[in-house]
Amino acid sequence: DKTRQDRLYFDTYSDVTIHEEMLADHVRTNAYRMAIAKNTELIRDRVVLDVGAGTGVLSIFCAQAGARRVFAVEACSIAEQAANIVRQNAMEDRVEVIRGTVETVDLPERVDVIVSEWMGYALLHESMLNSVLYARDRWLKPGGVILPSRAELYISPICDPLVEDRLHFWYSVKDQYGVDMSCMWDFARKCIKNSDIAVSSVCVEDVLSHPARFAELDLNTVTVEQLRTVSGPFTCAAFGSAAVNAFCVYFTVTFPCPDKPLVLSTSPFKPETHWKQAVMYLDAPLEVVQDTPVTGEVRMFPSEDSDRHICVRVDFSVGDSKRQSKTFSIRDWNS
Ligand code: SAH
Repeated sequence: DKTRQDRLYFDTYSDVTIHEEMLADHVRTNAYRMAIAKNTELIRDRVVLDVGAGTGVLSIFCAQAGARRVFAVEACSIAEQAANIVRQNAMEDRVEVIRGTVETVDLPERVDVIVSEWMGYALLHESMLNSVLYARDRWLKPGGVILPSRAELYISPICDPLVEDRLHFWYSVKDQYGVDMSCMWDFARKCIKNSDIAVSSVCVEDVLSHPARFAELDLNTVTVEQLRTVSGPFTCAAFGSAAVNAFCVYFTVTFPCPDKPLVLSTSPFKPETHWKQAVMYLDAPLEVVQDTPVTGEVRMFPSEDSDRHICVRVDFSVGDSKRQSKTFSIRDWNS
């Protein structure tokens, strides 16, 4: 049930490891640091709400940018550490760590700015964005700002040669040991090319087309209702001869800034982040040549078992092959 799922979810954030991973991700943390610093005009003397403060790092960036008051709301026990960190940085006069879910805490006043790092694998895994939208509707003053304010999702066909090598392995056993195991091939294929979303770093050489954007979320206006399905069509054109054996999904988020928007990208063409990319294997590879169209639609929705668990359904066709469909999901963080 939902309470149990939430408890398991918040348990993962009570440990040091995940906070270490997030802070060690310089691409992520510096994007927030830079975006907050560039928005000093907007933040100075204003009130900020940090949704899911964790160690309090973003709250402290906001205090450094001159915020009058920062509410660092954090549901799990890492809040105690955040309070220590705020004290260690002599910011307890401006940063108030509040332990509780943002859905239940009572703040003494409304806020001018909401900052939050809510993104999960494939953007929507964990669906913490719902909490940010709740906070927006409950606590953000009209005309207030959300950092980041926009999210975009991209897809591209890829060829992962490693999984093909793993399948070919079963043909090579005979040469290695004199025992023919080639009948294992189909079993191995079913095990490897399953419906799990693999979180892994895609090599740029394996990307077979320019990525296509299939969805965009404006955090100022998107509703919880709309998040129940995030979907859109895509059209890609293959760079050259290759065999498509997977799709890769990744996201960007954008911070409004006075000069030009700042983009935090998890593209395989950009420096790696801890989100890497979401890789989804097709049952069988499909051949493409230069300019072969790879088209379809992506639908992302929470699984029936858990609201925090994202499913990705890809309907696709490659060239004039018949339309196929496969639904993927991320293996539970508890399993
Ligand atoms: N802001 C920190 C941590 C980001 S991870 C940083 O950038 O390093 C997200 C954090 O949000 C986790 O610590 C999680 O426990 C917290 N969180 C998720 N949903 C929440 C909710 N509804 N209310 C309060 N905290 C929440």
